[in-house]
Amino acid sequence: MAAIAESVLKPDFNASRKHFIFNDEHEQLRESITNFAIKELAPHADEWEETTFPDSVFRRMGELGFLGLDKPEQYGGQGGDYFSAIVLGEAIANANCGGLAMGIAVQTDMAMPPILALGTEDQKQQWAVPAIKGEKILCLGITEPDAGSDVSGIKTRAVKDGEDYVINGSKTYITNGHRADVIVLVTKTDADAGYDGFTLFLVPMDSPGVIREKKLQKLGMHASDTALLAFQDVRVPASAVLGQIGKGFYHIMWELQGERLIGAAGCVAGAQKCFEKTLQYAHERKAFGREIGKFQVIRHKFAEMATKIESARQMVYVTAWRFNNGEYPVREISMAKLHAARIAVEVADECIQIHGGAGYMKEYGVERIWRDMRLNRIGAGTDEIMLEVIGRSYGL
Ligand SMILES: Cc1cc2nc3c(=O)[nH]c(=O)nc-3n(C[C@H](O)[C@H](O)[C@H](O)COP(=O)(O)OP(=O)(O)OC[C@H]3O[C@@H](n4cnc5c(N)ncnc54)[C@H](O)[C@@H]3O)c2cc1C
Repeated sequence: MAAIAESVLKPDFNASRKHFIFNDEHEQLRESITNFAIKELAPHADEWEETTFPDSVFRRMGELGFLGLDKPEQYGGQGGDYFSAIVLGEAIANANCGGLAMGIAVQTDMAMPPILALGTEDQKQQWAVPAIKGEKILCLGITEPDAGSDVSGIKTRAVKDGEDYVINGSKTYITNGHRADVIVLVTKTDADAGYDGFTLFLVPMDSPGVIREKKLQKLGMHASDTALLAFQDVRVPASAVLGQIGKGFYHIMWELQGERLIGAAGCVAGAQKCFEKTLQYAHERKAFGREIGKFQVIRHKFAEMATKIESARQMVYVTAWRFNNGEYPVREISMAKLHAARIAVEVADECIQIHGGAGYMKEYGVERIWRDMRLNRIGAGTDEIMLEVIGRSYGL
């Protein structure tokens, strides 16, 4: 747009920054989730770091319609587009509680999509409908003590026995694993069939033989529960198979794409939150007679951080736009996940530095963001696995 003599264009630093993927309804949704997170969640964040967040959060979010934003209306969802899921993934960062955001994302964007996409009508009614209401809690079991990145190396077996299947094995690092009512479980049903030998099951967590072993202690995401689970002769009917027998590997690779993209959106939101907290601190904290933010070296740190966050945000939004259009942009999802996770950790680390000693103290909350964000370079596929997916997509 050209400037004319009477109206000289000035930079619009305070534009509302609405991106082209969002409309007014998305922005209203963002406002209501943000208000909810600030009023009803954030005040408890410190306590939930010690105790994990209560199950009542699922019910409350279900009541408010936040657990089914992009889910079909016929199952109790709001019938919105994928961008409404992105809005939730971003706005929930206002709870200041990464573990809570992760527990909710497991429900809405990790365990629920396979049930809705692959499930029978009965399975959707039994699990997705109450999960959207927040009355049932879901978890997803891929990782095992001996196999994480290498999903094809899992050992959990489901063996046909008459009309039933009998499952034996173990899963680890399972988010929501202690509280969940059902697990979307990845098993091997045919050890000789390679990638065609995997099957997903919906296993009720109160089935005899499901053992919730340890509550695992971790570096961050303290408000979430993380379980080591054992499956000992767990008998489920054939109706517990989710999707096609033998196609579980492909089903779970599809599920991981949504998981990675929503995780990337969460990284951008976490980094932005940390940036804002730190910007405020840089205005308030004085050294050598001036606000620390006025030192050029600190100002440039903010400029670097803002540029990193913006680049990751644009990758997430454009990839979400393609995803919403029905494309399957695996390369771009992997890039967005890799980049967003990396920059979130870099930003949080720099924010600690800008806070000085205060950054190392719990009271300022930036150390928590750093600990929480660190998971994203590992969970849902490590940086190295993202690089493998991207590199291989070029035929290498
Ligand atoms: C807090 C938390 C919550 C989690 N929640 C869940 C959950 O709800 N459900 C679930 O199923 N899982 C969950 N996970 C597991 C997570 O997805 C795995 O930890 C992750 O996929 C990595 O697997 P791994 O830990 O077995 O690491 P490994 O696969 O053992 O990898 C170890 C190292 O080797 C590298 N590596 C492995 N293979 C290659 C390769 N081909 N090329 C180069 N480097 C390689 C990895 O990048 C990594 O640096 C969670 C993990 C954590 C920490």
